[in-house]
Amino acid sequence: SGARVRRANSKRLPQYMERGLDVKFSDVAGLGKIRLELEEIVKFFTHGEMYRRRGVKIPGGILLCGPPGVGKTLLAKAVAGEAGVNFFSISASQFVEIYVGVGASRVRALYQEAKENAPSVVFIDELDAVGRERGLIKGSGGQERDATLNQLLVCLDGFEGRGNVITIAATNRPDILDPALVRPGRFDRKIYIPKPGLIGRIEILQVHARKKPMAEDVDYMAVASITEGMVGAELANIVEIAAINMMRDGRSEITTDDLLQAAQIEERGLLDRKDRSPEMWKQLALNEAAMAVVAVNFPDLKNIEFLTISPRAGRELGYVRVKMDHVKFKEGMLSRQSLLDHITVQLAPRAADEIWYGEDQLSTIWAETADNARSAARAFVLGGLSERNYGLSDFWVADKLNDIDLEALRILNMCYQCAKEILHRNQKLMDAVVGELIQKKSLTKQEFFRLVEVHGFLEPMPPNI
Ligand code: ADP
Repeated sequence: SGARVRRANSKRLPQYMERGLDVKFSDVAGLGKIRLELEEIVKFFTHGEMYRRRGVKIPGGILLCGPPGVGKTLLAKAVAGEAGVNFFSISASQFVEIYVGVGASRVRALYQEAKENAPSVVFIDELDAVGRERGLIKGSGGQERDATLNQLLVCLDGFEGRGNVITIAATNRPDILDPALVRPGRFDRKIYIPKPGLIGRIEILQVHARKKPMAEDVDYMAVASITEGMVGAELANIVEIAAINMMRDGRSEITTDDLLQAAQIEERGLLDRKDRSPEMWKQLALNEAAMAVVAVNFPDLKNIEFLTISPRAGRELGYVRVKMDHVKFKEGMLSRQSLLDHITVQLAPRAADEIWYGEDQLSTIWAETADNARSAARAFVLGGLSERNYGLSDFWVADKLNDIDLEALRILNMCYQCAKEILHRNQKLMDAVVGELIQKKSLTKQEFFRLVEVHGFLEPMPPNI
Protein backbone atom coordinates (compact mmCIF):
# COMPACT_ATOMS: atom_id res chain seq x y z
CA SER A 1 0.00 0.00 0.00
CA GLY A 2 3.04 2.18 0.48
CA ALA A 3 3.63 2.19 -3.26
CA ARG A 4 0.07 3.20 -3.97
CA VAL A 5 0.29 6.13 -1.60
CA ARG A 6 3.48 7.29 -3.22
CA ARG A 7 1.97 7.16 -6.68
CA ALA A 8 -1.10 9.03 -5.49
CA ASN A 9 1.16 11.64 -3.99
CA SER A 10 3.14 12.24 -7.11
CA LYS A 11 -0.05 12.75 -9.09
CA ARG A 12 -1.34 15.34 -6.67
CA LEU A 13 -1.17 18.80 -8.14
CA PRO A 14 1.62 20.74 -6.56
CA GLN A 15 0.15 23.40 -4.35
CA TYR A 16 3.09 25.68 -4.06
CA MET A 17 4.41 25.59 -7.59
CA GLU A 18 4.14 28.67 -9.78
CA ARG A 19 3.60 27.78 -13.41
CA GLY A 20 4.14 29.66 -16.59
CA LEU A 21 6.80 31.93 -15.16
CA ASP A 22 9.10 33.37 -17.70
CA VAL A 23 11.30 35.76 -15.79
CA LYS A 24 14.86 36.33 -16.92
CA PHE A 25 17.73 38.37 -15.56
CA SER A 26 17.05 40.92 -18.27
CA ASP A 27 13.75 41.67 -16.49
CA VAL A 28 15.60 42.71 -13.36
CA ALA A 29 17.39 46.02 -13.69
CA GLY A 30 19.84 48.07 -11.76
CA LEU A 31 21.64 45.20 -10.07
CA GLY A 32 25.18 45.94 -11.09
CA LYS A 33 27.60 43.43 -9.63
CA ILE A 34 24.92 41.49 -7.75
CA ARG A 35 23.95 39.92 -11.02
CA LEU A 36 27.24 38.00 -11.15
CA GLU A 37 26.52 36.35 -7.83
CA LEU A 38 23.12 35.27 -9.04
CA GLU A 39 24.52 33.96 -12.28
CA GLU A 40 26.70 31.71 -10.17
CA ILE A 41 23.64 30.29 -8.47
CA VAL A 42 22.18 29.47 -11.86
CA LYS A 43 25.38 27.56 -12.57
CA PHE A 44 24.79 25.40 -9.52
CA PHE A 45 21.88 24.01 -11.45
CA THR A 46 23.28 23.98 -14.94
CA HIS A 47 26.80 22.89 -14.04
CA GLY A 48 26.07 21.10 -10.77
CA GLU A 49 28.06 18.03 -11.73
CA MET A 50 31.16 20.08 -12.39
CA TYR A 51 30.92 21.79 -8.99
CA ARG A 52 30.48 18.46 -7.24
CA ARG A 53 33.40 16.88 -9.05
CA ARG A 54 35.64 19.69 -7.96
CA GLY A 55 34.41 19.40 -4.41
CA VAL A 56 32.83 22.84 -4.38
CA LYS A 57 30.10 22.97 -1.84
CA ILE A 58 26.81 24.20 -3.15
CA PRO A 59 25.06 26.40 -0.63
CA GLY A 60 21.84 25.04 0.80
CA GLY A 61 20.24 28.42 0.94
CA ILE A 62 20.70 31.93 -0.31
CA LEU A 63 19.43 34.86 1.66
CA LEU A 64 18.36 37.94 -0.24
CA CYS A 65 18.38 40.88 2.13
CA GLY A 66 16.83 44.24 1.42
CA PRO A 67 13.82 46.50 1.85
CA PRO A 68 10.43 45.64 0.33
CA GLY A 69 9.99 46.20 -3.39
CA VAL A 70 13.63 46.10 -4.48
CA GLY A 71 13.03 42.96 -6.54
CA LYS A 72 13.97 40.06 -4.28
CA THR A 73 11.03 37.93 -5.41
CA LEU A 74 11.62 38.89 -9.00
CA LEU A 75 15.25 37.84 -8.71
CA ALA A 76 14.41 34.47 -7.23
CA LYS A 77 12.04 33.89 -10.14
CA ALA A 78 14.72 34.98 -12.58
CA VAL A 79 17.16 32.47 -11.11
CA ALA A 80 14.60 29.70 -11.72
CA GLY A 81 13.84 31.11 -15.16
CA GLU A 82 17.46 31.28 -16.25
CA ALA A 83 18.21 27.81 -14.93
CA GLY A 84 15.00 26.44 -16.46
CA VAL A 85 13.86 24.84 -13.21
CA ASN A 86 10.59 24.82 -11.29
CA PHE A 87 9.70 27.55 -8.83
CA PHE A 88 7.97 27.00 -5.50
CA SER A 89 7.09 29.84 -3.23
CA ILE A 90 5.48 30.61 0.06
CA SER A 91 5.50 33.52 2.41
CA ALA A 92 6.78 32.59 5.85
CA SER A 93 3.97 34.56 7.40
CA GLN A 94 1.72 31.79 6.05
CA PHE A 95 3.65 29.31 8.17
CA VAL A 96 2.70 30.97 11.34
CA GLU A 97 -0.59 29.46 12.36
CA ILE A 98 -2.50 29.20 15.54
CA TYR A 99 -2.51 25.43 15.60
CA VAL A 100 0.68 23.74 16.57
CA GLY A 101 1.99 21.61 13.76
CA VAL A 102 0.29 23.31 10.82
CA GLY A 103 3.28 25.45 9.94
CA ALA A 104 5.66 22.53 10.19
CA SER A 105 3.51 20.35 7.97
CA ARG A 106 3.31 23.11 5.36
CA VAL A 107 7.09 23.34 5.28
CA ARG A 108 7.27 19.56 4.81
CA ALA A 109 4.69 19.63 2.01
CA LEU A 110 6.49 22.49 0.28
CA TYR A 111 9.80 20.66 0.23
CA GLN A 112 8.15 17.40 -0.69
CA GLU A 113 6.73 19.03 -3.81
CA ALA A 114 9.98 20.76 -4.64
CA LYS A 115 11.83 17.45 -4.41
CA GLU A 116 9.31 15.60 -6.53
CA ASN A 117 9.60 18.27 -9.18
CA ALA A 118 13.34 18.86 -8.93
CA PRO A 119 15.39 20.59 -10.04
CA SER A 120 13.68 23.49 -8.34
CA VAL A 121 14.00 26.76 -6.51
CA VAL A 122 12.13 27.10 -3.23
CA PHE A 123 11.43 30.73 -2.41
CA ILE A 124 10.49 31.73 1.13
CA ASP A 125 9.41 35.34 1.49
CA GLU A 126 9.53 37.19 4.83
CA LEU A 127 11.79 34.58 6.36
CA ASP A 128 12.03 36.63 9.55
CA ALA A 129 8.35 35.87 10.26
CA VAL A 130 9.39 32.35 11.16
CA GLY A 131 13.12 32.66 11.46
CA ARG A 132 13.33 35.04 14.38
CA GLU A 133 15.64 33.89 17.07
CA ARG A 134 13.98 31.10 19.03
CA GLY A 135 12.70 31.77 22.48
CA LEU A 136 11.99 35.41 21.75
CA ILE A 137 8.27 34.87 21.43
CA LYS A 138 6.46 33.62 24.49
CA GLY A 139 3.36 31.46 24.67
CA SER A 140 1.91 28.93 22.27
CA GLY A 141 2.47 31.16 19.24
CA GLY A 142 6.16 30.99 19.98
CA GLN A 143 6.05 27.25 20.41
CA GLU A 144 4.35 26.82 17.06
CA ARG A 145 6.86 29.02 15.35
CA ASP A 146 9.72 27.09 16.91
CA ALA A 147 8.28 23.84 15.56
CA THR A 148 8.03 25.40 12.10
CA LEU A 149 11.54 26.74 12.28
CA ASN A 150 12.88 23.35 13.36
CA GLN A 151 11.14 21.71 10.45
CA LEU A 152 12.63 24.25 8.08
CA LEU A 153 16.10 23.53 9.44
CA VAL A 154 15.55 19.80 8.92
CA CYS A 155 14.47 20.39 5.32
CA LEU A 156 17.40 22.67 4.59
CA ASP A 157 19.83 20.09 5.94
CA GLY A 158 18.16 17.35 3.93
CA PHE A 159 19.15 19.05 0.72
CA GLU A 160 22.61 20.04 1.66
CA GLY A 161 25.09 19.32 -1.07
CA ARG A 162 22.60 17.95 -3.54
CA GLY A 163 22.15 21.06 -5.53
CA ASN A 164 18.91 20.08 -7.19
CA VAL A 165 16.72 21.99 -4.76
CA ILE A 166 18.03 25.39 -3.78
CA THR A 167 16.27 27.57 -1.26
CA ILE A 168 16.21 31.30 -1.71
CA ALA A 169 14.73 33.32 1.14
CA ALA A 170 14.05 37.03 1.43
CA THR A 171 14.17 39.23 4.48
CA ASN A 172 14.50 42.82 5.46
CA ARG A 173 15.86 41.84 8.87
CA PRO A 174 18.84 39.49 8.52
CA ASP A 175 19.99 40.77 11.90
CA ILE A 176 17.19 39.11 13.87
CA LEU A 177 17.35 35.68 12.27
CA ASP A 178 17.97 32.66 14.42
CA PRO A 179 21.71 31.90 14.31
CA ALA A 180 20.91 28.29 13.44
CA LEU A 181 19.48 29.46 10.11
CA VAL A 182 22.66 31.12 8.94
CA ARG A 183 25.01 28.33 9.91
CA PRO A 184 27.19 26.83 7.14
CA GLY A 185 25.18 24.56 4.86
CA ARG A 186 21.99 26.49 5.54
CA PHE A 187 21.53 30.13 4.59
CA ASP A 188 25.24 30.59 4.36
CA ARG A 189 25.19 32.98 1.46
CA LYS A 190 23.84 36.49 1.98
CA ILE A 191 23.24 38.89 -0.87
CA TYR A 192 22.30 42.47 -0.08
CA ILE A 193 20.02 44.27 -2.48
CA PRO A 194 19.97 47.97 -1.73
CA LYS A 195 17.55 50.57 -2.99
CA PRO A 196 18.54 51.58 -6.51
CA GLY A 197 20.71 54.62 -7.10
CA LEU A 198 20.24 57.14 -9.88
CA ILE A 199 21.53 54.89 -12.65
CA GLY A 200 19.65 51.91 -11.23
CA ARG A 201 16.41 53.88 -11.28
CA ILE A 202 16.99 54.86 -14.91
CA GLU A 203 17.55 51.20 -15.82
CA ILE A 204 14.48 49.99 -13.92
CA LEU A 205 12.27 52.62 -15.58
CA GLN A 206 13.64 51.53 -18.94
CA VAL A 207 12.98 47.86 -18.31
CA HIS A 208 9.35 48.62 -17.56
CA ALA A 209 9.15 51.00 -20.50
CA ARG A 210 10.19 48.21 -22.88
CA LYS A 211 6.66 46.93 -23.17
CA LYS A 212 5.08 50.37 -23.44
CA PRO A 213 4.70 52.86 -26.28
CA MET A 214 7.22 55.43 -25.13
CA ALA A 215 7.92 58.69 -26.95
CA GLU A 216 11.35 58.79 -28.62
CA ASP A 217 12.71 61.56 -26.46
CA VAL A 218 11.66 60.41 -22.99
CA ASP A 219 14.04 61.87 -20.41
CA TYR A 220 14.54 58.97 -18.00
CA MET A 221 17.23 60.91 -16.17
CA ALA A 222 14.67 63.57 -15.21
CA VAL A 223 12.29 60.96 -13.82
CA ALA A 224 15.07 59.08 -12.05
CA SER A 225 16.36 62.22 -10.44
CA ILE A 226 13.05 63.07 -8.79
CA THR A 227 12.46 59.57 -7.47
CA GLU A 228 15.31 59.26 -5.01
CA GLY A 229 14.50 56.71 -2.34
CA MET A 230 12.00 54.85 -4.49
CA VAL A 231 12.32 51.12 -5.15
CA GLY A 232 11.63 49.01 -8.22
CA ALA A 233 8.03 48.31 -7.27
CA GLU A 234 7.29 52.03 -7.05
CA LEU A 235 9.11 52.77 -10.31
CA ALA A 236 7.15 50.02 -12.07
CA ASN A 237 4.00 51.67 -10.76
CA ILE A 238 5.04 55.02 -12.17
CA VAL A 239 5.25 53.57 -15.67
CA GLU A 240 1.79 52.01 -15.25
CA ILE A 241 0.26 55.25 -14.01
CA ALA A 242 1.89 57.14 -16.89
CA ALA A 243 0.35 54.69 -19.37
CA ILE A 244 -3.09 55.25 -17.89
CA ASN A 245 -2.53 58.98 -18.12
CA MET A 246 -1.69 58.67 -21.79
CA MET A 247 -4.76 56.55 -22.56
CA ARG A 248 -7.06 58.88 -20.70
CA ASP A 249 -5.88 61.75 -22.87
CA GLY A 250 -6.34 59.66 -26.01
CA ARG A 251 -2.66 59.89 -26.95
CA SER A 252 -0.58 57.09 -28.39
CA GLU A 253 2.78 57.73 -26.71
CA ILE A 254 3.94 58.10 -23.14
CA THR A 255 5.88 61.33 -22.61
CA THR A 256 8.34 62.55 -20.01
CA ASP A 257 5.53 64.67 -18.58
CA ASP A 258 3.32 61.62 -18.11
CA LEU A 259 6.11 59.99 -16.15
CA LEU A 260 6.82 63.07 -14.05
CA GLN A 261 3.18 63.44 -13.17
CA ALA A 262 2.92 59.75 -12.40
CA ALA A 263 5.93 60.09 -10.10
CA GLN A 264 4.07 62.77 -8.20
CA ILE A 265 0.99 60.64 -7.88
CA GLU A 266 3.02 57.67 -6.69
CA GLU A 267 4.73 59.92 -4.22
CA ARG A 268 1.48 61.44 -3.02
CA GLY A 269 0.24 57.95 -2.36
CA LEU A 270 2.94 57.69 0.24
CA LEU A 271 2.02 61.08 1.58
CA ASP A 272 0.39 62.67 4.53
CA ARG A 273 1.14 59.83 6.85
CA LYS A 274 2.53 62.22 9.37
CA ASP A 275 0.34 64.86 10.81
CA ARG A 276 1.96 68.20 10.54
CA SER A 277 0.55 71.45 11.80
CA PRO A 278 -0.35 74.08 9.19
CA GLU A 279 2.51 76.15 10.58
CA MET A 280 4.96 73.33 9.96
CA TRP A 281 3.77 72.88 6.38
CA LYS A 282 4.21 76.59 5.84
CA GLN A 283 7.73 76.63 7.16
CA LEU A 284 8.72 73.68 5.03
CA ALA A 285 7.17 75.28 1.96
CA LEU A 286 9.00 78.52 2.66
CA ASN A 287 12.32 76.73 2.90
CA GLU A 288 11.89 74.75 -0.27
CA ALA A 289 10.50 77.68 -2.22
CA ALA A 290 13.47 79.80 -1.13
CA MET A 291 15.97 77.33 -2.54
CA ALA A 292 14.12 77.06 -5.83
CA VAL A 293 13.66 80.81 -6.24
CA VAL A 294 17.29 81.60 -5.44
CA ALA A 295 18.41 78.87 -7.83
CA VAL A 296 16.58 80.58 -10.69
CA ASN A 297 19.29 83.21 -10.55
CA PHE A 298 22.11 80.84 -11.43
CA PRO A 299 22.59 79.39 -14.89
CA ASP A 300 24.25 76.22 -13.60
CA LEU A 301 21.54 75.48 -11.08
CA LYS A 302 18.61 76.87 -12.95
CA ASN A 303 17.42 73.50 -14.07
CA ILE A 304 15.08 72.80 -11.20
CA GLU A 305 13.51 69.40 -11.64
CA PHE A 306 11.04 69.21 -8.86
CA LEU A 307 10.17 70.59 -5.49
CA THR A 308 8.27 68.95 -2.74
CA ILE A 309 7.51 69.14 0.94
CA SER A 310 6.05 65.67 1.16
CA PRO A 311 7.54 63.33 3.72
CA ARG A 312 9.37 60.61 1.86
CA ALA A 313 11.27 57.53 2.80
CA GLY A 314 14.53 58.62 4.31
CA ARG A 315 13.74 62.31 4.01
CA GLU A 316 12.16 64.01 6.94
CA LEU A 317 11.97 67.41 5.33
CA GLY A 318 11.28 68.46 1.80
CA TYR A 319 13.70 68.84 -1.00
CA VAL A 320 14.27 70.82 -4.09
CA ARG A 321 15.85 69.10 -7.01
CA VAL A 322 18.37 71.53 -8.25
CA LYS A 323 20.17 69.89 -11.05
CA MET A 324 23.90 70.29 -10.97
CA ASP A 325 26.34 68.85 -13.41
CA HIS A 326 26.82 65.56 -11.56
CA VAL A 327 29.84 64.43 -13.47
CA LYS A 328 31.71 67.68 -13.05
CA PHE A 329 30.72 67.84 -9.41
CA LYS A 330 32.10 64.38 -8.74
CA GLU A 331 35.31 65.12 -10.53
CA GLY A 332 35.75 68.34 -8.64
CA MET A 333 35.50 70.31 -11.84
CA LEU A 334 32.61 72.59 -11.03
CA SER A 335 33.64 76.14 -11.67
CA ARG A 336 34.49 78.50 -8.86
CA GLN A 337 31.36 80.50 -9.57
CA SER A 338 28.99 77.56 -9.58
CA LEU A 339 30.32 76.45 -6.20
CA LEU A 340 29.53 79.90 -4.83
CA ASP A 341 26.08 79.65 -6.38
CA HIS A 342 25.60 76.28 -4.75
CA ILE A 343 26.49 77.77 -1.36
CA THR A 344 24.07 80.62 -1.95
CA VAL A 345 21.21 78.23 -2.70
CA GLN A 346 21.97 76.19 0.40
CA LEU A 347 21.75 79.35 2.50
CA ALA A 348 18.41 80.38 1.02
CA PRO A 349 16.27 78.58 3.63
CA ARG A 350 18.06 80.39 6.43
CA ALA A 351 17.65 83.72 4.65
CA ALA A 352 13.94 83.09 4.06
CA ASP A 353 13.43 82.31 7.71
CA GLU A 354 15.01 85.59 8.65
CA ILE A 355 12.94 87.60 6.18
CA TRP A 356 9.56 85.97 6.86
CA TYR A 357 9.85 85.19 10.55
CA GLY A 358 12.54 87.55 11.81
CA GLU A 359 15.86 86.95 13.58
CA ASP A 360 14.23 86.14 16.89
CA GLN A 361 11.82 83.52 15.57
CA LEU A 362 14.16 81.41 13.52
CA SER A 363 13.27 77.75 13.11
CA THR A 364 15.86 75.02 12.77
CA ILE A 365 14.58 73.62 9.51
CA TRP A 366 17.40 75.23 7.60
CA ALA A 367 20.09 73.62 9.76
CA GLU A 368 20.82 70.84 7.29
CA THR A 369 21.26 73.04 4.25
CA ALA A 370 23.22 75.62 6.25
CA ASP A 371 25.54 72.79 7.19
CA ASN A 372 25.98 71.90 3.54
CA ALA A 373 26.84 75.52 2.87
CA ARG A 374 29.38 75.59 5.68
CA SER A 375 31.27 72.56 4.48
CA ALA A 376 31.10 73.74 0.89
CA ALA A 377 32.57 77.10 1.93
CA ARG A 378 35.38 75.40 3.76
CA ALA A 379 36.07 73.16 0.76
CA PHE A 380 36.07 76.26 -1.38
CA VAL A 381 38.79 77.90 0.70
CA LEU A 382 40.87 74.74 1.11
CA GLY A 383 40.58 74.03 -2.58
CA GLY A 384 42.47 77.26 -3.16
CA LEU A 385 39.51 78.92 -4.83
CA SER A 386 39.18 82.01 -2.67
CA GLU A 387 41.29 85.02 -3.44
CA ARG A 388 43.12 84.73 -0.14
CA ASN A 389 45.25 81.86 -1.22
CA TYR A 390 44.91 78.90 1.10
CA GLY A 391 45.43 75.33 0.08
CA LEU A 392 44.90 71.86 1.50
CA SER A 393 48.35 71.86 3.06
CA ASP A 394 47.35 74.78 5.26
CA PHE A 395 44.75 72.60 6.88
CA TRP A 396 47.50 71.04 8.98
CA VAL A 397 48.99 74.31 10.13
CA ALA A 398 47.39 75.20 13.43
CA ASP A 399 47.70 78.97 13.25
CA LYS A 400 46.24 79.02 9.78
CA LEU A 401 43.09 77.15 10.82
CA ASN A 402 41.52 80.25 12.23
CA ASP A 403 42.29 82.16 9.04
CA ILE A 404 40.72 79.43 6.96
CA ASP A 405 37.56 79.53 9.02
CA LEU A 406 37.46 83.30 8.85
CA GLU A 407 37.81 83.20 5.10
CA ALA A 408 35.06 80.55 4.87
CA LEU A 409 32.91 82.77 7.04
CA ARG A 410 33.52 85.71 4.73
CA ILE A 411 32.38 83.60 1.78
CA LEU A 412 29.32 82.40 3.69
CA ASN A 413 28.33 85.95 4.56
CA MET A 414 28.76 87.15 1.03
CA CYS A 415 26.58 84.31 -0.30
CA TYR A 416 24.05 84.83 2.46
CA GLN A 417 23.60 88.48 1.55
CA CYS A 418 23.13 87.49 -2.05
CA ALA A 419 20.44 84.92 -1.14
CA LYS A 420 18.68 87.47 1.02
CA GLU A 421 18.68 90.05 -1.69
CA ILE A 422 17.24 87.66 -4.26
CA LEU A 423 14.46 86.70 -1.86
CA HIS A 424 13.75 90.33 -0.95
CA ARG A 425 13.35 91.26 -4.58
CA ASN A 426 11.11 88.29 -5.34
CA GLN A 427 8.70 88.20 -2.44
CA LYS A 428 5.63 87.99 -4.68
CA LEU A 429 7.02 84.99 -6.48
CA MET A 430 7.96 83.45 -3.17
CA ASP A 431 4.44 83.87 -1.79
CA ALA A 432 2.99 82.27 -4.89
CA VAL A 433 5.34 79.28 -4.76
CA VAL A 434 4.79 78.82 -1.02
CA GLY A 435 1.02 78.96 -1.49
CA GLU A 436 1.01 76.41 -4.24
CA LEU A 437 3.44 74.11 -2.41
CA ILE A 438 1.26 74.08 0.69
CA GLN A 439 -1.72 73.24 -1.43
CA LYS A 440 -0.20 70.63 -3.74
CA LYS A 441 2.76 69.45 -1.67
CA SER A 442 4.84 69.03 -4.83
CA LEU A 443 5.50 71.09 -7.93
CA THR A 444 7.00 69.91 -11.19
CA LYS A 445 9.54 71.94 -13.08
CA GLN A 446 6.81 73.09 -15.46
CA GLU A 447 4.53 74.18 -12.65
CA PHE A 448 7.33 76.04 -10.94
CA PHE A 449 8.54 77.90 -14.02
CA ARG A 450 4.98 78.77 -14.89
CA LEU A 451 4.84 80.70 -11.62
CA VAL A 452 8.17 82.31 -12.43
CA GLU A 453 6.72 83.40 -15.75
CA VAL A 454 3.54 84.80 -14.25
CA HIS A 455 5.17 86.70 -11.40
CA GLY A 456 8.48 87.51 -13.05
CA PHE A 457 11.94 87.12 -11.59
CA LEU A 458 14.06 90.06 -10.51
CA GLU A 459 17.79 89.56 -10.55
CA PRO A 460 19.78 90.87 -7.61
CA MET A 461 21.93 93.94 -7.93
CA PRO A 462 25.31 92.91 -9.37
CA PRO A 463 27.12 91.40 -6.40
CA ASN A 464 30.70 92.26 -5.68
CA ILE A 465 32.00 88.77 -5.19
P1 ADP B 1 10.53 42.35 -3.10
O1 ADP B 1 10.41 40.87 -3.24
O2 ADP B 1 11.94 42.80 -2.87
O3 ADP B 1 9.58 42.95 -2.10
P2 ADP B 1 9.41 42.30 -5.74
O4 ADP B 1 10.34 41.41 -6.46
O5 ADP B 1 8.13 41.69 -5.26
O6 ADP B 1 10.13 43.01 -4.51
O7 ADP B 1 9.08 43.57 -6.67
C1 ADP B 1 7.76 43.88 -7.07
C2 ADP B 1 7.73 44.35 -8.51
O8 ADP B 1 8.49 45.56 -8.66
C3 ADP B 1 8.38 43.40 -9.47
O9 ADP B 1 7.48 42.43 -9.90
C4 ADP B 1 8.81 44.31 -10.60
O10 ADP B 1 7.73 44.63 -11.45
C5 ADP B 1 9.21 45.58 -9.87
N1 ADP B 1 10.65 45.60 -9.57
C6 ADP B 1 11.22 45.59 -8.36
N2 ADP B 1 12.56 45.63 -8.44
C7 ADP B 1 12.86 45.65 -9.76
C8 ADP B 1 14.09 45.69 -10.50
N3 ADP B 1 15.28 45.71 -9.88
N4 ADP B 1 14.01 45.70 -11.85
C9 ADP B 1 12.82 45.69 -12.47
N5 ADP B 1 11.65 45.64 -11.83
C10 ADP B 1 11.64 45.64 -10.49
